Amino acid sequence: MRIAVLSDIHANLPALDAVLADTGAVDAIWHLGDIVGYGPDPDAVVDRLRTIGAIGVKGNHDAAAAGGSEIEWFNPDARRAMEWTRATISARTRAWLDALPQTLVHGDCTLVHGSPREPIWEYVTSVPVAQTNLAVLASRLGLHGHTHVPVAFLEEDGRIEVVSPVDGSVLELRGRRALVNPGGVGQPRDGDPRSSFLVLDTDADTVSWHRTAYDITAVQSAMRAVGLPASLAARLSVGL
Ligand code: ZN
Repeated sequence: MRIAVLSDIHANLPALDAVLADTGAVDAIWHLGDIVGYGPDPDAVVDRLRTIGAIGVKGNHDAAAAGGSEIEWFNPDARRAMEWTRATISARTRAWLDALPQTLVHGDCTLVHGSPREPIWEYVTSVPVAQTNLAVLASRLGLHGHTHVPVAFLEEDGRIEVVSPVDGSVLELRGRRALVNPGGVGQPRDGDPRSSFLVLDTDADTVSWHRTAYDITAVQSAMRAVGLPASLAARLSVGL
């Protein structure tokens, strides 16, 4: 099975559509949460995911959009964008976001937004945090997002190898356990403004990362038109 894994779409429809056109033939689309927040198209992005039958988990922005207290932890720009999102989304979108699970286990894979032990909030950004999470991970692979940075923490003889992929990188898992992050679709933060995603090939036991250019100015214009914070639009140009 070939599965496209998308995270942190953040209501960026041009980015999502560019990625969906670039995945090649896949058997399934999985998402790792933060479908909304920051961006101008929350209803349209949720509609697209629903239409293609994507399955996935809830992120901190999705929980906040559905009315959760997570909004209290947002920085001022994220909070403004979330207040706009809450006021904008349809009841149908809100219910769909609210119904997302925090953790989803599918075969060898556990899907979470943040980390296996703290699925909504924890950032897996270091070897010690990855090690602790691999120790509690019930399945072989943990797919996570939240940092908007593509990375893999690969377990090898009790040690952790950190893989920092670029466009086209292929990781041969060879049965090893790992935490794997596809990077962000709608707001990349590794200095490359192109959308980031991965394809998991369960037969070959490989993960490949991909970058897709999209119409950044289109989404920036849409953000301006609805009054979303200018800094959130500006960062899309630099991918930080
Ligand atoms: Zn996010």
